[in-house]
Amino acid sequence: MRYPPLGEQGQRNLVNSSVLLCGCGALGSVLANTLVRAGVGHLRIVDRDFLELNNLQRQVLYDEQDVAAGLPKATAAQRKLQAINSDAHVDAVVADVDAGNIGKFLDGANMILDGTDNFETRYLINDAAVKHNLPWVYGGCIGAEGQTMTILPGQTACLRCLMQDAPAPGTTPTCDTAGILGPIVNVVASFQACEAIKILSGNRAAISRSLTVVQMWDSRIRQVDVSTLRDAVDCPTCKKHEYPWLQGQRGTHTAVLCGRNAVQLSFPDRQQMSLDALADQLDGVGKVTRNEFLLRFTADKYQVTVFPDGRAIIGGTDDVAEARNAYAKYIGH
Ligand SMILES: [Zn+2]
Repeated sequence: MRYPPLGEQGQRNLVNSSVLLCGCGALGSVLANTLVRAGVGHLRIVDRDFLELNNLQRQVLYDEQDVAAGLPKATAAQRKLQAINSDAHVDAVVADVDAGNIGKFLDGANMILDGTDNFETRYLINDAAVKHNLPWVYGGCIGAEGQTMTILPGQTACLRCLMQDAPAPGTTPTCDTAGILGPIVNVVASFQACEAIKILSGNRAAISRSLTVVQMWDSRIRQVDVSTLRDAVDCPTCKKHEYPWLQGQRGTHTAVLCGRNAVQLSFPDRQQMSLDALADQLDGVGKVTRNEFLLRFTADKYQVTVFPDGRAIIGGTDDVAEARNAYAKYIGH
């Protein structure tokens, strides 16, 4: 409240605000932590993954106990955040954000924050944000480099103004090939969190009109002016109001998880699955462990994690066809 651009009214606005955070890994950890400490009143966290030991190098909300408990990231994050600020309302949703569910997750949100690790979800967020006229803040990191841009629909350039399409697979470095240096995550997410605080507190005039690119190892920050980009390009999203990711015409529900040697398979139209019944079915196949959020088993060379919505993460391969085979073999079609 003592920081003049915020003041008491700005702080009240934060308390009355609601944020949808898509992804709660590295960037998402810093975003959630910063916003809940800043007093943001409502935070809905949607994340599809569970914790692994190697996450702890950069995913600062989590610890070894969370990994040992086999918790989904959204659930572990919610517990930590409630311990940090018991007044904040934090919803945890263990799910993959897709065209079928993003509308429901957006309900009541004032803005969206990008804590994802993939362009498919970012283009979906971009479609949904522009269509529903909600601000969002893009962020991404690889190696020691990261970038962020703030999108105010109808006013500033959107992600598709900047890049018509996601980079083709194999043309850019991935977590597997380049790793991620811990400090870049904190820097990029801190830029994102500050943009969120400006938007939510009622200081939209203060948002950045640049794409910010940080090269941490070389200690360099570059600001690319994007203030005229929206008018300069013929963006299908901004100018023609086309939303192919939101309408399910683009994107799939299958994803090779970055840096994990694992594939996610999901089935948005499927009914809830009984993990108890699945545990019985797998009796004798391999070692099965489960908690209230997920079931995990090891069979052949695969470590398979299954969620109640039927979604599974198949570890031990980055080949989608092979992952589908393993799913069919052990879980069924
Ligand atoms: Zn655009």
